[in-house]
Amino acid sequence: MVMQHMAHNTASVAPGQAFIAPPGDSGGQFIYIHVPFCEQKCAYCDFFTVRDDANGARRASEWMKLIAREMELWTDAGDLSRETPIQTIFFGGGTPSLANAAAVEKLLDFARSHYNLALGAEITMEMQPNTADGDKVRALAKAGVNRFSIGAQTFREESLRRAGRRHTVEQTKTLFREASRAGTASLDLIACWPDQTMEAWRADLDEALALGPDHISVYELTFHAGTEFHRQLKSGRIESLDEELRLAMFEETDRVLCAAGFEHYEISNYARPGARSRHNENYWTLGNFVGLGAGAHSFIFPHRYTNAASIASYEKFIGRGELFRRPCDAADPEIFAVENLQMALRLAEGVDLDWFAERFGMDIRQRRPRQMENLQREGLLKLQGARASLTSAGVARFDSVIEFLL
Ligand code: SF4
Repeated sequence: MVMQHMAHNTASVAPGQAFIAPPGDSGGQFIYIHVPFCEQKCAYCDFFTVRDDANGARRASEWMKLIAREMELWTDAGDLSRETPIQTIFFGGGTPSLANAAAVEKLLDFARSHYNLALGAEITMEMQPNTADGDKVRALAKAGVNRFSIGAQTFREESLRRAGRRHTVEQTKTLFREASRAGTASLDLIACWPDQTMEAWRADLDEALALGPDHISVYELTFHAGTEFHRQLKSGRIESLDEELRLAMFEETDRVLCAAGFEHYEISNYARPGARSRHNENYWTLGNFVGLGAGAHSFIFPHRYTNAASIASYEKFIGRGELFRRPCDAADPEIFAVENLQMALRLAEGVDLDWFAERFGMDIRQRRPRQMENLQREGLLKLQGARASLTSAGVARFDSVIEFLL
């Protein structure tokens, strides 16, 4: 539910840029599928979703037919090849797990028969715990889904209720156990709930670890304008945690998860060896990806695109056999470059600045020499040869590092 939004950078074309492939690019294709229906609107969520309690499951299932048609349209436009292996498919949302397994199977069969879906392709689905049981997980696995990303968010019942989540802690645990028998299972957690103590956060981490996940994503609760939590914050009904406690929680997360054998491989993501999200890694290494479905974004170098912003207009375009995609490129090439650098710096390995300068037409060392020096002096960024990466202090203050570079 989160990565597609992280991937929404804006970009512009720097005239005369030659295509330089991302590092490690094996020529694969990466597909994100946005399923924008939810049974509820969670109090912290600002994603593009439509609340449809009564018909969400039916609409999510029917959505798969539109997605198949959109794939064809991308192919007609020359940006989705039938030959190049599709390395990953990621069903995000919204609540993609509202769709029935038969509809998902049909779409994946379509991808297999009309495209080159790689053997061993990573196929992820985000799962809301109340929308699936063991039978559904097994049916999805039979259809080809091999990575289940479970939206646990917290193991504190009261916080789930306050956030408007539909599931119970018990449902999270039950679904997680079923999913981990059927494939790789990842847990999404949210830290820094309004009244959360360090002890409560430790308890969440302990509950998560007790389930034995291969991968854990940890996001800080953010009070986005327009959300219910933002309204409550403004009216004084809830308070955000102070910065010191928030930083301490992230240090504790790092300590606890790394001690448990996880690698902190990206700002918000921890994986056991071999269990990184290949799909999301492609975002952070600035690879191309095709985003299908209303509200999705795509990156076909050197353009970032938005898909239709409403379900009605998406359906209208697809119904007419027209691809809706609009470039959402920043006007200023420097901003374009820094926004992409921001994405690349999220990975623990950081980014090769020589490669970056060639691909994006901007050498940050030459354009921002003073800022780069200051960031290193303050212990937020390290440079080893041409490779720049954040230190753990830099990871904790990621937003400030980026603001500084902008
Ligand atoms: S289920 Fe996910 S996408 Fe839907 S409202 Fe809740 S957080 Fe947002």
